[in-house]
Amino acid sequence: NANKSNEKNNIQVAVRCRPIPLPDRGSNLNVEIINDRQELRLHLNDKSTKIYTFDRIFTPETNQLNIYKSMVIPMIEEVLEGYNCTLFAYGQTGTGKTHTMIGQRDDQAFLSWEDDPKAGIIPRALGQLFDRLEAMDGDYTMRISYLELYNEDIYDLLCLGNIESQKKLRIFEDSSKKGKVVVHGAEEVLIRCKNEAFDVLNRGAARRQIAETELNASSSRSHTLLTISMEMKDKGFSTAEFAKEETMKIGKLNLIDLAGSENISRSGASERRAREAGNINQSLLTLGRVINALVDGKSHIPYRESKLTRLLQDSLGGQTKTSIIATISLQSRDLEETVSTLEYARRAKKITNKPEVNQR
Ligand code: ADP
Ligand code: MG
Repeated sequence: NANKSNEKNNIQVAVRCRPIPLPDRGSNLNVEIINDRQELRLHLNDKSTKIYTFDRIFTPETNQLNIYKSMVIPMIEEVLEGYNCTLFAYGQTGTGKTHTMIGQRDDQAFLSWEDDPKAGIIPRALGQLFDRLEAMDGDYTMRISYLELYNEDIYDLLCLGNIESQKKLRIFEDSSKKGKVVVHGAEEVLIRCKNEAFDVLNRGAARRQIAETELNASSSRSHTLLTISMEMKDKGFSTAEFAKEETMKIGKLNLIDLAGSENISRSGASERRAREAGNINQSLLTLGRVINALVDGKSHIPYRESKLTRLLQDSLGGQTKTSIIATISLQSRDLEETVSTLEYARRAKKITNKPEVNQR
């Protein structure tokens, strides 16, 4: 079914509504979610309603596990087949991007990825990947890199050195593969078991915390990119007469917690003001422009105008399977940001990628 396969290659876009904190109940937006149609209706007043359709809409009641099941389990299977998959969390600061991507882990209980109630996508994905790899007949290696992009500089969250003397990393074009970029000097930590994976996650989170306090690098203005890279060798078919045939699959999962969407300004005038004040988020701005250019079918896509879009070029209109979870607030005072996030997500849904397996 041509239509169906086409649909699958579109960027998958979900919206997650953050529960309204108790003290603020009563000052909420008039939002209606029609589940069986994946439709969100935002009633602005008696006469005006904005209607949005997405691949998934998660209500404030949707829990972490259900979000994982619906958005990430299909990606895990694809990564194990040798695809590259990317998931972005996009939205206003405070709407639950980090909660969605990392959440909280119950360190004491050693719960499985299915049983830890507050765990977000990253720890669940690591847990499930190890379960799946261990059940497969074959050898594998897993590596993790964890980068932070702040003010168009790339920092390594897994670097072991002193944070003040930390070097900014540089991007290089991989001359053997057109359009592929490598981050020079980034740690790619070999991970042999779940606990090592969780240690690396904690190390990255701690470093981000230190950068926030000591270098005044606000997490609402930085992007974090966690990449899980896997090489999987199938034992394959082997007899006495024939040489053993091995196939090697390479799968990658990029999990990205973007800077707060309020860091891009909407109109040209305020963009200029923001730029003059030195607080425009070039990467977030360019991500929006790349999305627009792809949706409009432009011949020039401005990937090179920001570090984020250079790093993620392949995830946007390329050979990666990409999903976005857009997080929104349902509080009245956040109306403008919520509408802007919904519009952004609606546009992103029109991008198509051309996923390809990496197999040797
Ligand atoms: P962001 O990363 O988008 O700035 P956070 O993930 O830090 O937002 O969320 C802000 C606060 O709201 C945190 O205290 C977080 O635990 C809480 N929160 C966010 N989303 C949810 C949710 N779906 N359910 C419960 N608490 C949430
Ligand atoms: Mg956050």
